[in-house]
Formats: sequence, C-alpha cells, structure tokens
Amino acid sequence: MTTIPSRIPSRRPAPVDLLVHGGDVLTVDEAGTVVPDGAVAVRDGEIVEVGPAEELRARYAAADTLDATGCLVLPGLVNAHTHLAMTLLRGRADDVTLQGFLERVLRWESELLSADNVATAIRVAIAESVRAGVTSALDMYWFHEAAERVAREAGWRLHTGPTFMDVPDAADGIAYEDRLEWARRDLAGRTRRPGTRPVLFAHSAYTLSPEQLTGIGALAREFGALLHIHAAENATEVATVEVRHGKRPVELLDSLGLLGPDLLLAHAVDLTGAEIAALARTGTSVAHCPVSNLKLGCGIAPVPRMLSAGVTVGLGTDGAVSANTLDVLRALGLAALVHKADGDPTAVGAEQAVRMATIEGARALGLGAELGSLEAGKRADLIVLDLSGPHLAPRHDLWSTLAYAARADDVRDTLVDGRVLMRDRTLTTLDEGAALGDLAALVSRSGLV
Ligand SMILES: [Zn+2]
Repeated sequence: MTTIPSRIPSRRPAPVDLLVHGGDVLTVDEAGTVVPDGAVAVRDGEIVEVGPAEELRARYAAADTLDATGCLVLPGLVNAHTHLAMTLLRGRADDVTLQGFLERVLRWESELLSADNVATAIRVAIAESVRAGVTSALDMYWFHEAAERVAREAGWRLHTGPTFMDVPDAADGIAYEDRLEWARRDLAGRTRRPGTRPVLFAHSAYTLSPEQLTGIGALAREFGALLHIHAAENATEVATVEVRHGKRPVELLDSLGLLGPDLLLAHAVDLTGAEIAALARTGTSVAHCPVSNLKLGCGIAPVPRMLSAGVTVGLGTDGAVSANTLDVLRALGLAALVHKADGDPTAVGAEQAVRMATIEGARALGLGAELGSLEAGKRADLIVLDLSGPHLAPRHDLWSTLAYAARADDVRDTLVDGRVLMRDRTLTTLDEGAALGDLAALVSRSGLV
C-alpha cells in the first residue's frame, strides 16, 4: 500500500532563541510598516523574521517567548550623542552658559575622574538608558575602556573609543602627544562585531588645533572609524573658532577635508545656509540634542532646513550634566515640538521625530544596515512599550502616541542583540540597587555634596 503524500509538506518549526509576539509591531522600515498582532523571531542576536504573530508562532519553535499583547514593539532608541559618565555630575551645573558649564565641569573632571569612578557612573547611566528603552549610545568620554567593560557586562550596546581634547591635566592622565599612538593601538586591537564600528572622538574645534584635527581625521580614515565632534553648539563657540582660525567650525572642518559620511556632528545649532548645503553635499550627519541646547540657551538647531536639504539627523540627549536626563523619548518629544515654535506646525512631524530616534540615529552612526529598524537580518535591538496607561488612550496613530504622549516609564522590556536586559520593568543584567548605592557613596566620598 502506498500513501499519498500531502500536497503541502508539513514543515517542522524552525528553532529560534526568542519570539516576541502579540501587540503591534512598528517596524520603522522605509514604508513605515505596522504589523498588528505581530511578532519578531530572533536567533543568535539577529532578527530572523517580522510578521503576523499567528504565522510566526506556527513557523518557529522558540526557546523563550515574550508576550507583547496590548503593547507596542519597536526598534530600540539610539542615543546619537552623550557623555554617560557625566551622570556623576547631574544637577551640578544648571542654569549657566555653555562656557560657564565647561569651565566648572572640566575642573571637576580633572579632580574626580578615574576608571573606577567612570565605571560607577556608567552603570547607573546604563540602568537609566535601559529603563528608557535606549538600546545603544554614542558615548564620548574619558576612560572609554572602563565604560566598555561595564556595557559588555550589562549586555548593552555602547559605541565608544578614544577621545581627543587638548586641555591641561587631561582627566585620564594621557598627555596629548601620546594620544594618537594610544588611539592607534586601541583601534588596531578591536574586532568588528555586528552592530558596532570603530569610533574616534575629537572634542571640538575650540579644544583642538586644525593640525590636531587633521591628524585625528587621518587616523579615523585609516581604520574606517566614525569620527564624532561637537560643532557649532552656540554663537560663542562659532565666534571663538572664527577669531582663532578665520573660519566658522563647519567651514573649518570642510576646509580640512573632514566633512563626509564618516563624520557626525553633535549639536550643529549655529549654521549658515552654505554650511547646511556643505553637510548635505558631503553626507555629513548631525546628532540633534534639543534638551541640552534649550537648557544651555544655545538656540534651536535648524533641523527642518537640514532635513529638507537631505542631511541625516539623529537624536542625542548629551550628558546628564547639560541635559539632566538620558531619556531619548523626551528628546524625541521635544524634537517634534520645538521646531514648530517658528509658526510652522508641520515642522518635524511625529513620524520624522520617531525615525530620528531610531533608524536615522543608526544611519548617522553609519550603522543603518544593522540597527534602527525591525527587519530580517538586523540586530535584535528592540523595546516593548506598555500601552495600557490612560495617557496613551485611545491610539489613533502610533507615531503620534510615541512622539507626543509616551513616557520613558511606559517601556516594559528592553532587548539588545536579542538578550532581554529588562523584563517586565526589572533589569536582568545589572544590579540597579548596588549601582545606585555605589554612585551615592562615590558622590559623598568626592565631597560633591
Ligand atoms: Zn556633548
């Protein structure tokens, strides 16, 4: 007797590590696809498939599951400019100008900083970020090796590397003339992991000479590294650079041949039309930091003009001394509001602001192919937002919900590389109580209180 084979071969479910299922999946792909009652299948830290929950439940056998029913699943937020360890000084330099702020902070840093103290502060900063749904950050600071160690232990994605700032008494004790070699050794020793790239930080055109900037740029190019720099943060900075070098910061960077797709500017508040055109022409990206810019009275970056010129704009919080928060959702909300102040309510719409906090931030870092949206082949950096709060009801438009109504404490689960770092609002890889205790002890030891 022969059996007649079924016309539809029964396929055994494919094994995956995790299935996040139920809830609406806001993919933030090019088309802005939303999958109602959707699912995301994850294997080896990578998204295998995004689709209707019913189909993915049948197609995959998951070792672990996360029920997102009644929630919104979206890409993890990307903090495109911060100084995480400055959490140590949160609330210590408020209501001052940028220049007054820098004066105070630089003095404290040279007295306070050590690898251990940076590690203590970073632990709290990562806890705050994970709670706020931030899955990666571009972090410019001293003692980046200590920061990387803590981030690795927590399973969190930190984009960092050597920083250049020619100031007396560098906080890490490395003399300026030794820094290029130190940075070269750092870059040479790195292995490329998915969702990361080498990074170099040049603090600014007012703490580095044109020759120093050129040398740092050459080193970045040699290793295919992203170069990140503060530029045109306020009018005083622009005037300082102009008096010293006869050119505004962006003009100076352009004349040195440093603009390009591997350069990311932080702030870019004080720009001329010609400078915006130069950023667009060269593919230079910008990290917009509205909270910090407003608090330091720096002004409002010309984001609508940059966007219409085609400049890639991500969102940053800046450090917790200048912005007092690492909450990217807050920056997102402000980015969607502050540009309307000139009288145009269409400036930076809700969807545009959400994209800036996700895929555009990833693109600004040169990692748009690996991060920033929920698509097969990308890293599984995603968050689950609890939509049950009254402040989120009803939901006519998910972009609007995120930009104008959602809060950091609505984030329920945070995943990086498919690993759950926060499950049901409990951190799974960081001892938050111990981290806060260590920070409090450090602050009281340091004489800051
Ligand atoms: Zn900054």
